[in-house]
Amino acid sequence: MRQLPSGAFAVSYRDDRESLNFTSTSRISYILHTVSYPFSLVRNLYFSNSMENYRVLGALGSGTWGVVHSAEQNGTGRKVAIKKIKSERSEEGVNFTAIREIKLLREFKHPNIIELVDVFSTPDMAICLVYEIAETDLEKILNNKQISISLADIKQHLFSLLKAISACHDRWILHRDLKPDNMLYIKDGTMKLADFGLARMYGTPKTRLSPQAITLWYKPPELLLGSYEYSSAADIWSVGCIFAELLLRRPFLQGKNSDISQLDTIFTVFGTPTDVNWPDHNTLPLCARGLIWDDVPAIPFDEIFTAAPKDAISLLRSLLTLDPNMRFTARQALDHPYFTNNPPPTSKEKILVVVIS
Ligand code: AMP
Repeated sequence: MRQLPSGAFAVSYRDDRESLNFTSTSRISYILHTVSYPFSLVRNLYFSNSMENYRVLGALGSGTWGVVHSAEQNGTGRKVAIKKIKSERSEEGVNFTAIREIKLLREFKHPNIIELVDVFSTPDMAICLVYEIAETDLEKILNNKQISISLADIKQHLFSLLKAISACHDRWILHRDLKPDNMLYIKDGTMKLADFGLARMYGTPKTRLSPQAITLWYKPPELLLGSYEYSSAADIWSVGCIFAELLLRRPFLQGKNSDISQLDTIFTVFGTPTDVNWPDHNTLPLCARGLIWDDVPAIPFDEIFTAAPKDAISLLRSLLTLDPNMRFTARQALDHPYFTNNPPPTSKEKILVVVIS
């Protein structure tokens, strides 16, 4: 039996949203140079003149901000993906997630991070983000039952994800929305981490961050319990959920539409938090306000991941610990013997062979 004090979710977190109340696209450049991020992150922004630099080929898919189109860059013939982000009302100005994504991606060059090729604004007050084009994403691969995913393939997917997130954490960037649909794959099989709309810089002294981040099934228990002083360990929980999903071929922790249901799902598998397995959990907002759970024991991982080798389970255990302070870092995970033990990871060139052919 649990108790939820009234108003438990009525807390408003006004911490990490820049207020970008500009009304003219001609001011985009000004915004990018004046919001609170370090100037070095935004000073070299370049805007091409217009959509005239591209020939639109077709729709690739749609997301939170609308349809993403494939296009060809005039002159170079390079294929790109264009995401057009429009504010619903002109007085809202430029969408802040777009600004965030531009600021973080513009100077972030890494083989496993999606390349932001160009940014421009349109006369109808939209901002267009132009990316390198991908062939597919991990969610599509997982959902395509004609594709078999071997243990060696899983190792390659996880290795690429850990390299990407390690690079983010080295630069004090939290991604805050790791999930299979944000792991894109380009033609040569390289995984490119995408969608930095929720990403944030963090650091010391501890940055106040909103717990309203990360898609539910990939959201760690500290955010579900209302923590606003979390760290890179939050992304690591999501990495663990993706690893588990690769092993099971279905999402691991499928709560039903609410943070409380997600916590129930997590505690059913991991057992209820105690002073031994998570010493600080009682200080988190929802626990401090009296939310309690019946004691339930943890289910051993080898009873859930029956086909997984021991080294995979050992690494998974170190990524998915209730206490964020006990979770591996991305670097520790990359050094785990799982990656040097047999089988070696599938080469990236072979990872998409079935998808593309
Ligand atoms: P998003 O708004 O980022 O969720 O993207 C919506 C959809 O557009 C995704 O599900 C993909 O199918 C597609 N998409 C986004 N970015 C790219 C890209 N760089 N290359 C190919 N397709 C993309």
